[in-house]
Amino acid sequence: MNAAIIIAYMASAIFFIRGIKLLGKADTARKGNFYSAIGMLIAVVTVLLEKDVLGSWTGADVLHNGYAWAIAAVLVGSVIGVVWAKKVQMTEMPQLVALLNGFGGLSSFLVAIAQYVTKPKGDAFTSATLGLTIAIGAIAFTGSVIAWGKLAGNGIKKLNRIPAKNVVNAALALVGLAGVALYAAPSGAKAELAGIVVVSVAYLVLGLTLVIPVGGGDMPVVISLLNAFSGLAAAFAGFAINNTVLVVSGCLVGASGLILTLIMCKAMNKTMFKLLFANPAAKKGAQAGGPAKEPRALSVEDAYTILEAAHNVVIIPGYGMAVAQAQHAVKELCDKLENNGAEVNFAIHPVAGRMPGHMNVLLAEANVPYEQLKTADEMNPQMSNVDVAIVIGANDVVNPAAIEDQSSPIYGMPIVNAFEAHTVFVLKRGKGTGFSGLENPLFTNDNTVMIYGDAKATVTSLAAEFEE
Ligand code: NAP
Repeated sequence: MNAAIIIAYMASAIFFIRGIKLLGKADTARKGNFYSAIGMLIAVVTVLLEKDVLGSWTGADVLHNGYAWAIAAVLVGSVIGVVWAKKVQMTEMPQLVALLNGFGGLSSFLVAIAQYVTKPKGDAFTSATLGLTIAIGAIAFTGSVIAWGKLAGNGIKKLNRIPAKNVVNAALALVGLAGVALYAAPSGAKAELAGIVVVSVAYLVLGLTLVIPVGGGDMPVVISLLNAFSGLAAAFAGFAINNTVLVVSGCLVGASGLILTLIMCKAMNKTMFKLLFANPAAKKGAQAGGPAKEPRALSVEDAYTILEAAHNVVIIPGYGMAVAQAQHAVKELCDKLENNGAEVNFAIHPVAGRMPGHMNVLLAEANVPYEQLKTADEMNPQMSNVDVAIVIGANDVVNPAAIEDQSSPIYGMPIVNAFEAHTVFVLKRGKGTGFSGLENPLFTNDNTVMIYGDAKATVTSLAAEFEE
């Protein structure tokens, strides 16, 4: 490898590291994305310039020219990527992210298979990393496909049980590792092929059996974990094909994905062990026994008279705000309340919406100042002094069953304690449950009133009341 290539790889790694650092804060995130994209561009161009990547496959005949194929692949991929990214709705972003994680894992998997097919076998370490690339890339791929299906709400969502799942998963993991060992050990061509087939099949299936039993509410954490897996697979692929920039970028994705996973586990009061190995609790509907209490509905006009007198208001946004695209209307209501003399804060739950930072992104787009966006931990101690908590399209993240009902599947998950406010407005369209499919006792509390309708229409009407 000549000096120019090494310097280009280092420059690309520096752009990645700077990019990740800037992604840590909402106001520098755009710049972080841009820096990372520059890093990726340098990496791709450098890899293509490195002679041994395309080898002698650079002849004048287009069909046998590696550059022609690489450029065609980049063009086709870019067109698909741009069209897809432009078409996708904000509400469909999490499943897109899940699928893209999966493609990352699939790429590493295919790179390792191509290396096995086209290049002579390396030393034991390189062979072991090749086997591990296949293993982790396979889990990231099939696991992400299941996560995508569950989020997209298609037939996959109904799959949720694997009998004796821990035994099945342990057996698949061990069989797959035996495949890696068989390939890496000095053995004949047939044994090596058998090793590659065993690890591929075992870990493709393991991705399915690990993610199928994970409950809906835990899916964000699993997606973040699969993201870490796709990074780890890329890092191992870097060792297997001796490519430095792949090792660096894979480690960055793996480490940041793991840190995000741990942060999300903490936010949901879960351990990674419990997430992957505990048996999912059965879903629980409304409490049996006695007629169910009905929520009380309030008109926008009556809600205004309460809001108009409020000094301290907390807005708790959730997935429904994203569906309704109500963020600009919410900012308008916030301005009206402040002009009326109220202090307004936003309480943002870490898993509100369908992707980490979902609410922050939407509210930043509507120019809500960052300092008004408080975490649940910051707002909860003040919640009993709040005059009105306005829950806009949130459900699971304000469900008191997480605190009160030990048999609830979400028991132990920290929530925004909206129920402690003097009055709670819940803005939603009807009786729909949240992502976890659970009933929410908050809606029938004595201090809660429901304002039914699309969140954007309701918030716009509430804001309009302040003008009349
Ligand atoms: P949620 O529990 O999914 O509830 C959303 C509520 O919004 C629903 O009850 C729905 O009720 C209402 N809604 C939908 N469209 C609406 C509209 N146009 N106008 C008004 N209301 C509307 O949302 P959440 O409280 O934000 O909780 C997030 C859930 O998603 C958690 O369970 C979390 O674990 C999971 N999750 C999060 C992520 C992440 O990374 N943030 C990723 C995947 C999953 P109606 O149908 O009655 O209107």
